[in-house]
Formats: sequence, C-alpha cells, structure tokens
Amino acid sequence: MVVRAGREFLAIPGPTTMPDEVLRAMHRPAVDIYAGELIALTDSLHADLSKLFRTRGRTYVYIANGHGAWEAALTNVLSRGDKILVLESGRFALGWGDAAEKLGVEIEILPGAWDRAVRPHEVEARLRQDKEGRIKAVLTVQVDTASGVVNDIAAIGRAIKAAGHDALFMVDAVASLGCMPFEMDGWHVDVAMSASQKGLMTPPGLGFVAVGERARAVHHAANLRSPYWDWTAREGHEHYQKYAGTPPVHLLYALRQALDMLFAEGAEHTFLRHRLLAEAVRRAVGVWAEGGVLSFNILEPSERADTVTTIRVTGDGTAEALKDYCRDKCGVVLGNGIGALSGRAVRIAHMGHINAPMILGTLGVVEVGLNALRIPHGRGGVLAATTWLGDNVPA
Ligand SMILES: *Cc1c(COP(=O)(O)O)cnc(C)c1O
Repeated sequence: MVVRAGREFLAIPGPTTMPDEVLRAMHRPAVDIYAGELIALTDSLHADLSKLFRTRGRTYVYIANGHGAWEAALTNVLSRGDKILVLESGRFALGWGDAAEKLGVEIEILPGAWDRAVRPHEVEARLRQDKEGRIKAVLTVQVDTASGVVNDIAAIGRAIKAAGHDALFMVDAVASLGCMPFEMDGWHVDVAMSASQKGLMTPPGLGFVAVGERARAVHHAANLRSPYWDWTAREGHEHYQKYAGTPPVHLLYALRQALDMLFAEGAEHTFLRHRLLAEAVRRAVGVWAEGGVLSFNILEPSERADTVTTIRVTGDGTAEALKDYCRDKCGVVLGNGIGALSGRAVRIAHMGHINAPMILGTLGVVEVGLNALRIPHGRGGVLAATTWLGDNVPA
C-alpha cells in the first residue's frame, strides 16, 4: 500500500524544487549567441547577481556547480604555497579547503564542531597570532548544508578587521543566497560564491563568484589562475568570452526567470518566508525530539539555519528507514545525513521555491513515517508547526 502518486516532492537541500515558470522559461529554441537578446540577458544577470550578493563588485557566471565555483574563487586570488585558514563548521568549508590543498595551497583548519557555528573570537585570536601575515585568505560557509548551521558572517568579518589582518574573507553562500540576508560589502566579504540549484530555484549547472575590490587587486598576482576560471579573460568584449566559450543559454533564461520572481517578491519578503517556514519545521522537530530518538544537530537555537534543518536520529538504520518510508510510501524525498552524520541523520530542506503546503506536507509525511515505523516521538509536531504559523502569519 502506498499513498504516493504524481510528482515526487524533493525536500533535499539541493537541487531544489523549480517553479513551473522557471521550467517553462527554458522551453525555447536555441538562439544566436553572438548578437541579439542574449547579450542584454547576460548584462542583466551580471548586474542582478551583484545586487543579490549586495556588492558593488562584479559577478562572474560559470558553467559549473558549486565545486566549480569553489575552484574559480580559489584560483583567481591564490598562489601555490599560499597559506589559508579554513573555518570548520561541518562539511563544506572543509571541502572547499580540501580543493585548495589539492591546488597546492597550504591549509590550516581552525577546529570547530559539527553541532555549532564558527566562533568569531577564535578567528580573531588566530589571526592576531599571525604577525607575519602568512594567512592569505579565510574560508567559511554561511550555511553548512550538512550540519544545518548558520555562521554569523558579519561577526566573522568584524573579527578579521578587529585583528587588523589583511587576509581575504571568502564565503560560500551556496545554501543561503537568495534565502537569507547576505551583505557582501557591508560584511567585509572579499569573495563570495554560490550556485544555481539551491535557493535560486534554477537547474544545477551555474556557479557564481562575486568579487570585491581587494580581491580584484590580489587577482593580478595570483599564479593559480587558469584559462577557464580566469576573471581577466572573462572581461573581454566578445560575448562568448564572458563564458569562456558557448554560453549556457537555457540555464540563463531559467535564472532570469528565477531572479525576476525573487525580485518581484522582494528580498525582505523572501527572507521572512524562509524564516517562518524554517521555524515551523523547528517547532515540529522540537516536539518530535521529546521521544528521545530525534534531536536537533545544532544545539544553539540561534545557530540553526533558515534553509535546512539537520535532525539527528539514533538507532541503527532508523534514519534510513524513515527516509525510505517517506519516499517510497508518500513521495517525499528527505535529505540524508552526510559526512560525520552519514546514516545518523535526516535533513529537511526549506530553501528556494517553498511554501506552506510543501513544508507542512513534508512535516505531515515525516510524522506519518514516525507513526508507521513506531519510532518514539513527541506527539503533535505538525500541530506545533501549524499553531506557530497561525500565530505568526496574521489574518
Ligand atoms: C551544495 C553545496 C556546495 C556544493 O555545490 P555543488 O553544486 O554540489 O558542487 C557547496 N557548498 C555548500 C554550502 C553547499 O550547500
């Protein structure tokens, strides 16, 4: 017996659900890539991406996923043998640091933990010790999609400044851009990167790197630069140079549509929608946790991200069983635990094209699964979510 039919609902933290408008925007024939509307489309995307990152600097668009954008960010500002500081808070900053190491950069990891955010004062203390300025860059993520943590990027930016250190501040905003505030210039971020398939509601395949003035200056001397990623090469006058070859035409139309929808909603409204739906998820998880099997991975409530919630699940095979049930019986795909939480967590994404029925439906399905599998849990998680939403989304 199953109660699934029709569209499967993806509650994984990327790729995320795409609006029908975005899907339709791609349904068109190929167009000229040397003249005509595509040229203006590229210009509009560059301008609007910089707006989204909240920077006066330039944004570059790559045919790449987040891993590609990581490499683009690194190779344009670093040289072989440079040292960088990687702020641990789960999996993704470490992954970015790992890429740097493979490129020939020396990495130092500022130890963190899987259940909490980066502590800005620890960043400041470490940088103060670096009297010779050996550390060329600090790498961190805004939201770690594995642990579900949100780092305080503004506070880390202030900590770097307080240390009086020149290191570039480089931030991964893959799981947060377009869903929660990001102030590249205001927060002293020198290089920020993101990708199309999470908060930006667009198919996987586009990577973005936004670049501030200090990074642009360092770029000239960086010796890890390579032809495809190179910013300078992408500043040529010919349209194809902006993509180092054929543009990803249909993805560009998709992104244009997604950005139009985001701007039409308005950033403040988009951020609030995410905050409200994330809190609805947290209300449910808080109740389920009373059963002693499920718990929040991130211990401090204010460090839980508004885009993804990571739920620890104790017991051999329990997380997998819950995930299988939700998918096979109800057509909802939850994220699994990854990295240190592999097999010991499920993740509920709430980023991008999300609304009340999607999130409440997902919570309802999880509760069905908890009941069917006889997993001990506090009763009334969905009720807590709907009660909270009713109280906070006034008539
Ligand atoms: C998904 C993700 C990435 C990697 O993106 P890919 O497109 O899968 O390469 C990097 N950083 C964060 C924070 C992510 O969530």
